[in-house]
Amino acid sequence: MGEIQPHRHCPVCGISMPADQEFCSKKCEDRWNAVVKQKKKVIYLMRILVAVVIGILLVSMLLR
Ligand SMILES: [Zn+2]
Repeated sequence: MGEIQPHRHCPVCGISMPADQEFCSKKCEDRWNAVVKQKKKVIYLMRILVAVVIGILLVSMLLR
């Protein structure tokens, strides 16, 4: 009585769930994967953007 069972919280919706689970439901797992995929895409695009900006700066310095 009053003991806290080992548990985790779903990283998507924050609901308590058994400690051996990573997500409370398949729906949350899908959502999480979508977010991770989106983040990777954003990081990838940002890297390209930074590379382009550096390239433009270098070219404009060389052409001066
Ligand atoms: Zn959840």
